[in-house]
Amino acid sequence: MLTNEEFDRRHVWHPYASITRPLPCYAVSGAQGCEIHLQSGERLIDGMSSWWAAVHGYNHPALNRAVAEQLEKMSHVMFGGLTHEPAIELCRRLVGIAPKGLECVFLADSGSVAVEVAMKMALQYWQGRGEPRRRFLSLAKGYHGDTFGAMSVSDPTSSMHSLYRGFLPDGLFVDGMDIPFDGEWREEAIAPFAETMARHHRELAAVVLEPIVQGAGGMRFYHPEYLRQIRRLCDDYGVLLIADEIATGFGRSGRLFACEYAEISPDILCLGKALTGGYMTLSAVMTRRSVAETISDGQAGCLMHGPTFMGNPLACAVACASLNLLTTGEWRIQVAEIEAQLKRELAPLASCEFVEQVRVLGAIGVVEMKRPVSLAKIQRFFVEQSVWIRPFGRLIYLMPPYVISPKQLTCLTQAVSKAVTDYHLYCHA
Ligand code: PMP
Repeated sequence: MLTNEEFDRRHVWHPYASITRPLPCYAVSGAQGCEIHLQSGERLIDGMSSWWAAVHGYNHPALNRAVAEQLEKMSHVMFGGLTHEPAIELCRRLVGIAPKGLECVFLADSGSVAVEVAMKMALQYWQGRGEPRRRFLSLAKGYHGDTFGAMSVSDPTSSMHSLYRGFLPDGLFVDGMDIPFDGEWREEAIAPFAETMARHHRELAAVVLEPIVQGAGGMRFYHPEYLRQIRRLCDDYGVLLIADEIATGFGRSGRLFACEYAEISPDILCLGKALTGGYMTLSAVMTRRSVAETISDGQAGCLMHGPTFMGNPLACAVACASLNLLTTGEWRIQVAEIEAQLKRELAPLASCEFVEQVRVLGAIGVVEMKRPVSLAKIQRFFVEQSVWIRPFGRLIYLMPPYVISPKQLTCLTQAVSKAVTDYHLYCHA
């Protein structure tokens, strides 16, 4: 019989992984606070929040309690024709805290599905107006998920587009958004976007973007004025704006929603990841009443989406508990302190010969290297340093749970510093 490890390597797919040449995987037996416990007995300080999600840390008593209490009542019932308090309560809270005007909520399964739903909303909105539109405009280096609609609006030069060419819808992209978050705004920076809008607005159902922080497409932070001007152009041309805050939502960027940096409200907002405090998969798509009404009065008479596990009560209950923790406002102090410490402790790396750039925003710290990492090598090094950090491409980055202690965070930044200093050992030639 195969051992668990052998079985995993031979039979189990991992994210973006090969069955024939699997990268090492570390078996986890538990997780507590900001630590991941390996089966081998090691404890790793978590620098990833399980991909932006576990903002309150692991095994949190209040979140555990919310799941356990809900489990006693019901774990799931279908949402068609039935409703329940956890879903209503969650939607009520989301409407209360979301950027203004976003009144109608659709609960979906995951981030990628939220993007699909947002795109379907936009398409059905234009059908409802009797002027069907079929194209989406997005930003180069964006990332919106792995399903087909989401891939079609993610960066076109990434391999996913070339892999599925001929099957993916033909999206429009604007490049050249090169003013960083704290850079000096130049009016001409909006010109490529404005020109594309001027040329294509009649065929555009919506603009799709990640506000301020582009995550998996490059971990870049762009200037709020860029987003503000895109909002204005969408208004001028009557094109919907879809903001994907799946990664940025719930405080990660230093604001509850990254849209707040530009003081804008999108027409459609996608939330996920930290929505449940990282406990389970759930996403929410929020829109304006006018958009929801146009969809509902259109050809189909409804929004054509309805997943089996829509509004899952366990997920909604834990999401409400996570929002409870966020409404104390403590996250603001935590994220501000993480930001200050990341700036202090990562900044010296900027002068290292292997480093392209160091940047920090909110509880996100990024060290962009000149050459890509060798994931297997650097991963082993980090585990040996008792930290969990998972770089990709040329990016070594930290986005710890908000509850991380200064001492734990220093362990993370020190491990990054060591890896960067000895980068010749951990990079591809
Ligand atoms: N949008 C953004 C901005 C994301 O970062 C991600 C996930 N990395 C997604 C969408 C997709 O979410 P999920 O993995 O839950 O499908």
